[in-house]
Amino acid sequence: MEEWMMQLETSVNTLEKLKKYIHVSPGEKEGIEEAAKRNVRWGTTPYFVALMDPEDPNCPIRRQVIPSVLENENRYGVENYLEWKENRLTDEDRPECIARQYHDRIAFLVTDVCAMYCRHCFRKELVVIRGLRFRFDIEEGLQWIREHHEIRDVLVTGGDPFVLSDDKIEYLIAKLREIPHVEMIRFGTRTPIVLPQRITPGLKKVLSGNHRVPIWINTQCNHPKEITEQTAKAVYDLLSCGISIGNQAVLLKGINDDIDTFKELHQKLLTIRIRPYYLFYCEPAPGIDHFRTPVEKGAELIRDAIRGHTTGMAQPMYVVATRIGKIMLMPYYSYVEKNDEEYVVRNFKGETTTLPNIPE
Ligand code: SF4
Repeated sequence: MEEWMMQLETSVNTLEKLKKYIHVSPGEKEGIEEAAKRNVRWGTTPYFVALMDPEDPNCPIRRQVIPSVLENENRYGVENYLEWKENRLTDEDRPECIARQYHDRIAFLVTDVCAMYCRHCFRKELVVIRGLRFRFDIEEGLQWIREHHEIRDVLVTGGDPFVLSDDKIEYLIAKLREIPHVEMIRFGTRTPIVLPQRITPGLKKVLSGNHRVPIWINTQCNHPKEITEQTAKAVYDLLSCGISIGNQAVLLKGINDDIDTFKELHQKLLTIRIRPYYLFYCEPAPGIDHFRTPVEKGAELIRDAIRGHTTGMAQPMYVVATRIGKIMLMPYYSYVEKNDEEYVVRNFKGETTTLPNIPE
């Protein structure tokens, strides 16, 4: 068995297994027992669990992996969030595996299995709690895409599509590439972070090559502690297949919502060749109030930790993902005033300057 499969087979998803790695706090124990009672999924690979601080219950990795009793509370979240957010209650006839918010691109859900069951997941009703069940019928999804000529960009997601076998991933890519109007394939996968062993020679072979339809990957890394030499190697291996990797961090209270951590995360991503792409506001799925900050927090962090303070490439776009698409919420300090002759603009230090304008 390949190592990545072994990692999934031996997933740390019980109190007894977790105790081999860390000193489980009374609060964590209660959260795990509660999750077991409610039959809620949790856990991740031994590789990722080994990155936990054994003594600190506030360790950013522990908080993302170990269930909390706070998941039972839902003061600010939206019930039936996923159906509402993904416009699944509209009249359009779509297979359950297709989520749509835009005209020319869709999310193609191919599994509800993940290498880690993130406590803050916005798809938790489907992936973690599993009160919501979809049919992951790949053939049905492919046929729908074939019939919809406006779809040029397919995001393959789940769950985590890289938990599928090489053969299944190869089949999916080949079938999507056969569709003349598909121009690009994106994979959303957390495996480079939680299961870097997944980037095997076999998978590299499946992903490699200079094809008409390129592959892009976006991953999710939320804290600098999640980045290791193995992550760096996995990313380099993917790049050597001609695939570039972006990061979609989620803004998480007490995990990455302070200036120093936020800056270090985005700088460290660049050191291993991952390009910060999005910072997502933590979505109002039910039971994750304890991870959510005020909405403006992400823009403040970009203003105070990134823009002007470090390499421009380290700056993600801050977005809120809504049922009408992603909406950018960047800091609004830069523009002061304008007229036909000039713009007055402000930098990160509060200094202003003028820029000659050109009339239409
Ligand atoms: S890997 Fe993605 S889909 Fe899976 S639990 Fe985490 S955020 Fe949700």
